[in-house]
Amino acid sequence: MKKFSILALLLAFVVVLAACGGKNDGGSAASSDSGSSASASPSASAPASGGDKGTIGIAMPTKSSERWVNDGANMVKQFEALGYKTDLQYGEDVVENQVSQIENMITKGVKLLVIASIDGEALTDVLQKAHDANIPVIAYDRLIKKSEYVDYYATFDNFKVGVLQASYIEEKLGLKDGKGPFNIELFAGSPDDNNAYFFFDGAMSVLKPYMDSGKLVVKSGQTKFDQAATLRWDGGVAQSRMDNLLSANYSSAKVDAVLSPYDGISIGILSSLKGVGYGSGDKPLPIITGQDAELASVKSIIAGEQTQTVFKDTRELAKVAVGMADAMLNGKKPEVNDEKTYNNGVKVVPSYLLVPVSVDKSNYKQALVDTGYYTEDQLK
Ligand code: BGC
Repeated sequence: MKKFSILALLLAFVVVLAACGGKNDGGSAASSDSGSSASASPSASAPASGGDKGTIGIAMPTKSSERWVNDGANMVKQFEALGYKTDLQYGEDVVENQVSQIENMITKGVKLLVIASIDGEALTDVLQKAHDANIPVIAYDRLIKKSEYVDYYATFDNFKVGVLQASYIEEKLGLKDGKGPFNIELFAGSPDDNNAYFFFDGAMSVLKPYMDSGKLVVKSGQTKFDQAATLRWDGGVAQSRMDNLLSANYSSAKVDAVLSPYDGISIGILSSLKGVGYGSGDKPLPIITGQDAELASVKSIIAGEQTQTVFKDTRELAKVAVGMADAMLNGKKPEVNDEKTYNNGVKVVPSYLLVPVSVDKSNYKQALVDTGYYTEDQLK
């Protein structure tokens, strides 16, 4: 009888121990699955791997665009593989949300912050708080401006993105061969995103000479960034602007090309064009560029509607940011390849720039399927 109760006690002890172990694994204050973290995260439900190196706070702008969902999921996966926990939050394009999400991360004592800002000029105060708490900051994809406390910047060659979009238009219209004149309309990204200016300037570096010589005509006359800008990269806003441009300037003429900086905007522009008969009869769709190789746009390219996109491999960008973070947290200097381009108004932020790739119907398989970014099935 005595023997039996000792055995039972031992057994109970083992059970309690096992339960405690489980709790330590998944029950910490910050986990990759908290709040509005991306449900797509492949590691969100996996047991925290290692996880004793502390938590990384990851603040992303919105889940409404696929790319940011992928960026978040990729970082979670890669940070966890190195033994960190993650707190991934999406601000859903509301600046105040993002600021308070970052404040919470600071309060919870994250080791480092990776931030893709909604408004690049709205984080000065919260970055001061991060600095006061000794938390380093990496700007992810979008430069954070007006703060001394941005340690590094991981991004793509943003000027080149615009050059790729405009060179595509240049080539497809045969502008280099002297063809023209053609009608073009211009769209730019969000005025609170530093990248939007780089994309637009890159594109203008190619298009402006043709606009000056009259080979490209912007019938609306809206050639300035401020006139072309699309607040928060909103496809609906772009669609209404395109509706207005078409009804005011193209009742008899037709538009031959549209410079679009982002796939979500391209989809809006396409709806507008189709609404007035482009894409049928004797009204072919114009050349329409884009960016991010989002699923809907790649399908649209395959279907012959959107013409081009710029692929920026989010797996690679995550790798750069995670590498920077891990180096910093281990007292090493992260690798950078640009120390002159990204002045945030207070300092030049040391950056690592990845190379963007132009994608259309002719190379999407090679760029997106062969690299494992999408499966053939996803594109059906
Ligand atoms: C990113 C682009 C993206 C855009 C809209 C920019 O900051 O660099 O990849 O298309 O935001 O989300």
